[in-house]
Amino acid sequence: MTARPTPRPAGGRIMGDPGPTGRFGSFGGRFVPESLVPACLELEAAFRSAWADPAFRAELAAILHHYGGRPTPVTECARLSAELGVRVLLKREDLAHTGSHKLNNVVGQGLLARRMGKHRLIAETGAGQHGVATATAAALLGMECVVYMGEVDTRRQELNVFRMELLGAEVRAVTSGSRTLKDAVNEALRAWVADVADTHYCLGSVMGPHPYPWMVREFQRVIGEEARGQCRELLGGSDPDVVVACAGGGSNAAGIFAGFADDSDAGLVAVEAAGGAALTAGIPGVLHGMRSALLQDEAGQILEAESISAGLDYPGIGPEHAHLAELGRARYVAAGDGAVLDAFQLLARTEGILPALESAHAVAWVVAAAASGELAPGTTVLINLSGRGDKDVAQVRDLLRGRR
Ligand SMILES: *Cc1c(COP(=O)(O)O)cnc(C)c1O
Repeated sequence: MTARPTPRPAGGRIMGDPGPTGRFGSFGGRFVPESLVPACLELEAAFRSAWADPAFRAELAAILHHYGGRPTPVTECARLSAELGVRVLLKREDLAHTGSHKLNNVVGQGLLARRMGKHRLIAETGAGQHGVATATAAALLGMECVVYMGEVDTRRQELNVFRMELLGAEVRAVTSGSRTLKDAVNEALRAWVADVADTHYCLGSVMGPHPYPWMVREFQRVIGEEARGQCRELLGGSDPDVVVACAGGGSNAAGIFAGFADDSDAGLVAVEAAGGAALTAGIPGVLHGMRSALLQDEAGQILEAESISAGLDYPGIGPEHAHLAELGRARYVAAGDGAVLDAFQLLARTEGILPALESAHAVAWVVAAAASGELAPGTTVLINLSGRGDKDVAQVRDLLRGRR
């Protein structure tokens, strides 16, 4: 893979401030009912002021350090590199508290909500991981927490429902529509308007109406900024050739890309689940307050995404990714379930690390690209290991048994 020059948007950074319209090229925006506009505007103003306030940033950084375990390390993978013929580095978000990058976003939004005088966090969740992360931040900051979860998902993810309850959150089962993640987002948006004075909607990825895609990317930018410095130290002042991350909504990918998109020649690759590949198989449309690439049928009905990894089965992707694809600054590819299972086992055996099934998508693409020669021998690849795989062990066992 060779880096090619990227057209720069007039006057700005590639992953900069999208301004008051929240547009990333022709994507993004704020497609919400009249009743939600004031809440979005209030949130945007509050975020702008907080993000420009060194005291807010220092408090967030201190919590992410003393409580969350940041900075997370970058690990050189000697045995995996020898096996693949490319040099693999991992950014270890699996080592952050709660086992993924999600903490960066929920602590940021929790602190922001508190600064806005709100005492309740609400969140949507599919597999339960963002619900657990939000409940964690609420417990830490002494706030109430209500998590909306499709009724189908509450049955599929019983243990995470219990986890959220242990953390003091209330889980509300959503019975509208397909009773899964996209319905939980709709319900959370409704609940937000109904009680906007006391409630902050803590959205889980770089999606939804402006300012969420931008705000969540900024809260995840810490991954890319740390990784840039850590790689330079490890690589004698150079950047990696390629940076790879998995993408569901796209927050861990946006976070690590943000450290490299503007002033580095590193290639950027996001790996979607083959059954939920909004940018490989989707078409532009409007959902959940944003214009982005979405999985939909010819009549514009949103399709259910399907993947072995529950964290990647969102039928869309954040609007900034649709824009990065349009610019040619990042590439979007897909990995199938079989390759992901193989990559999960390969990383376990060669490095002693069980990756989240989501993160194993990024590893799977690197394995395939090294084998096909798309990644030339000796290429340096930084993979964002977005989370740890302990949560997925029972499922992997069942899948592997089914294979035999
Ligand atoms: C939630 C989750 C994802 C998917 O979310 P993004 O917004 O696409 O980053 C990926 N990996 C892990 C470990 C997760 O928990």
